Formats: sequence, C-alpha cells, structure tokens
Amino acid sequence: MGLLTALEGGHGDRGDAVVVDGRAMSWEELLGAAGAVAERVAGAPALAVLARPTAETVAAVVGGLLAGVPVVPLPPDSGPKERSHILRDSGATLLAVPPGEQAEDVETVPVDLGARSGATFAEPAPERPAFVLYTSGTTGAPKGAVLPRSAVAAGLDGLADAWRWTADDTLVHGLPLFHVHGLVLGVLGALRTGSRLVHTGRPTPGAYAGARGSLYFGVPTVWSRVTADGTAARALSGARLLVSGSAPLPVPVFERLAELTGHEPIERYGMTESLITVSTRADGERRPGSVGLPLDGVRTRLVGEDGGEVPADGGSVGELQVAGPTLFAGYLNRPDADAEAWTADGWFRTGDVAVIGPDGFHRIVGRASVDLIKSGGYRIGAGEVEAALRDHPEVADAAVVGVPDDDLGQAVVAYVIPGGPVTGEGLTDFVAARLSVHKRPRRVVLVDELPRNAMGKVLKKQLLERG
Ligand code: ATP
Ligand code: MG
Repeated sequence: MGLLTALEGGHGDRGDAVVVDGRAMSWEELLGAAGAVAERVAGAPALAVLARPTAETVAAVVGGLLAGVPVVPLPPDSGPKERSHILRDSGATLLAVPPGEQAEDVETVPVDLGARSGATFAEPAPERPAFVLYTSGTTGAPKGAVLPRSAVAAGLDGLADAWRWTADDTLVHGLPLFHVHGLVLGVLGALRTGSRLVHTGRPTPGAYAGARGSLYFGVPTVWSRVTADGTAARALSGARLLVSGSAPLPVPVFERLAELTGHEPIERYGMTESLITVSTRADGERRPGSVGLPLDGVRTRLVGEDGGEVPADGGSVGELQVAGPTLFAGYLNRPDADAEAWTADGWFRTGDVAVIGPDGFHRIVGRASVDLIKSGGYRIGAGEVEAALRDHPEVADAAVVGVPDDDLGQAVVAYVIPGGPVTGEGLTDFVAARLSVHKRPRRVVLVDELPRNAMGKVLKKQLLERG
C-alpha cells in the first residue's frame, strides 16, 4: 500500500478530516488543496514547508507527499541562521507558505485551502524520501535525517497495530508540526489510518480537555501540566489511549495521570531516525518507567563498551541499537555523522543507554553522552538519581548531570525545581536514604525552570555549561 493510499481512497461521508487550530477541512478539501500544491511542486528536489500549526501546513505536507517531493518542515520560529541552514542543507528550492506571504530567500508556493485539483499522481517508489527531518539537536547540531516512504509507512503501520489505531479514532494533539512526533506520527498517522485529526494549535490542558478525542499524544511536559489541572485531567477519562513520547515520562506523572484519568498512559520510545521503535501495546501491560516492546519487524540489541552484546537480563545496561524497516536512509551531507551512527552490520546506534528485561520490556536509562555519569570509577544513570529526587513530595522536577571534576572525573550535580519549601540540604538528606554514597549529588542547585526545547526535552548541554 502506498504511503497515502488510505487518504486517496477517500473517506466518503465521514465529515471533517482534519481540524487545525479551529479550521476544519473535509477529506475532499484537504485532497483538493494538497493536489494543487502537488501540481505546482512536482519535479522539485525538495519542498520546505513553514510548519506553523495550521491547516495550510497539513495541506502542503500532503501535497509534497502526493507529488513524491521530499518534504522539509521548517520550524516557524527558526532564526535566520537555522532557516538558511535547513533550506541550503536540504536542497529545498520551494517554500510552502499561507497565501499572501512572501520570502526573500526562497521561491514561495502559496497554499490555497479553496483550491481544487483533478490531477492524479503515480505512487512514488517506496525508497523515495518522504521527509528530510532535522533532529532536535539535543546532543549536537540538528542533523537532516532522510526518511524513505517505506520507513514512514512501516513505522505507522506498526503503531496502528500496537495501539489498535483505526478510522474509528479521533486523534488529538497540539505538538509542533516540524518534529517527527507531531508531524509524522501525529498527522500522517491520522491520515494513514483514516482517523480524524484535531490539532489544538497548542498542547494546553484546557485545549486537550475540550477536544473529545479517543487518542491523545503528548510529550511528558504536556502530561505533567495536565496532571496539575485536575479538571482537565478528569475530562480525559473518556479517551481510549493517552500516549507519551519524545522524552522520559517521570514515574510520578505516569501514576498521577492514571489516578486522575483512569488510564495508565502508553509510553513509546522513538527518534527522528527510526520514528517509533519500542512501545507499550494498547492491550498489553503498561509499566511505569518502561517503554514496552519493539514494534513488529523492529529488532533491538544492547551493546557494551567493548562492542560485545549485553544480555537482556533486566539489569545490564548497554547502548541500544536498532535494525528493521522503520530506519532512516542516512543523514544529509553528514558522512561523519553517518559513519558514527551505523555499525558494520547495518544496525543504527541510537546513542541511548537501555536495559532489556527477559520479558522483552525495554527501559531507557538515558543518553550515553550526558545521562551516563562516570564518577569515582562508578557508572551512574542520571535517571536513577532524578527518580530518587522526584520521590520527594516537594520536588516538582529534577535533572541530573555529571560536571567535570578533578577528583572524581565527573561529579553528580542536581538541578531541582522545588514544588514547596524544600532546601538543598534537606534533599541531600532525603536521597541519602535512597541512593548509595557514590550516586548522591555533590551539589543540589534549586532553579525556577529547567532549560527545555520545543519538545519538552531537558537541554542538559546547557546545564553542563552552567557547571
Ligand atoms: P539530536 O539527535 O540532534 O541530539 P534528539 O536525539 O533529541 O536530538 P529526536 O530524534 O527528536 O532528537 O529525539 C530522539 C531521542 O529522544 C531518543 O534518542 C531518546 O534519547 C529520546 N526519547 C524519545 N522517547 C523517549 C522515551 N519515551 N523515553 C526516554 N527517552 C526518549
Ligand atoms: Mg538523536
């Protein structure tokens, strides 16, 4: 089945297909507007799309995909440097924008929601890129990952199967449309399954509560805000599935969400380079702190520092490597990053450290480069220390880093957002009862906020720069 076959087949009288920030489109309208974009861009090397959360963005993305032109979402708030890098690096010669908008640096394609097009397009080859998506830049400069149409289709079908996601669902989310989560899973997922999509513009608890969906996507900060708003949380009790991804879901947020909504959340783990890799199943066990099982067709393994395979015994940590049909084709113009990312036998090195249990359940410990702290000869997972700190009732959130230290190599330093009158000393005593000596923070810094990007990922590089 082609990437958009389900959409082109039409959904007859199912009413609105897509509602973005209050603007509703029928399937017919969406296909009409997208078809006009496709006619205009056919044959171009790549189509950049100014990825504001609008109906025009959805139509432009579908247009690029219909024409077989790789789609490159451009973050709407990107500064001139990021913007020109993405345009140049991706080779995009056209930029889709709302009608009336101009750009000085690139030819624009106005997206007209009233346009109708009778043009039909041959299904592009499965290996053709659907998207060039830039990674979040959590560990370095964002890299352009080339995602073949077949990889996107495989990832979405794996998800549809794992979550029993069908045309009967209404998906609600308000995530950015330039990232894999909001765009590929959150827009194409809905179009491919034929479910209705309600994009709330922004992912606020109030907007989620008012949207009456069956399936909700959020990043952990969204779910944390939902749990802080009891009324909104209770309004989600009629949903079928609440899904969290893109960053680790803290166990207290999992538990509070379950308590308030009556639904244990589904946690999934994935990345720009491999969409979805591992997820809890809709009809399987949901275990706080675990991301579940690999999707059908996805293979995972743990590799130790010596290059040897690490056993799936529920305790041993290793780098998580992935193989299978959901993988990207490589980074654009980054042979250095490609050389680092792929093993000789074709597996992708995720850069994440994980533990796999004998039952196949995966637990993500963190990123090898920042979350694995080497202190005084011990290897310490930042997540374990963060979890111990979050156990304190007056801790709203915590992030732990390994700061260079002459004596220890790295010293454990905790940044904590207090949720009550807690002191650094009080916290040090509190974790002393929970963590062995070498894992205890040498320093606790109380802060009002943790630096996060648009996907709610804590930017530990910035914390490390603070020391
Ligand atoms: P860059 O690759 O540019 O440093 P990034 O890795 O943050 O940025 P993304 O592709 O957006 O860019 O994010 C994928 C990463 O997000 C994963 O490798 C993993 O570290 C993290 N992640 C995603 N889902 C989860 C999850 N459920 N639990 C823990 N970590 C997660
Ligand atoms: Mg990454």
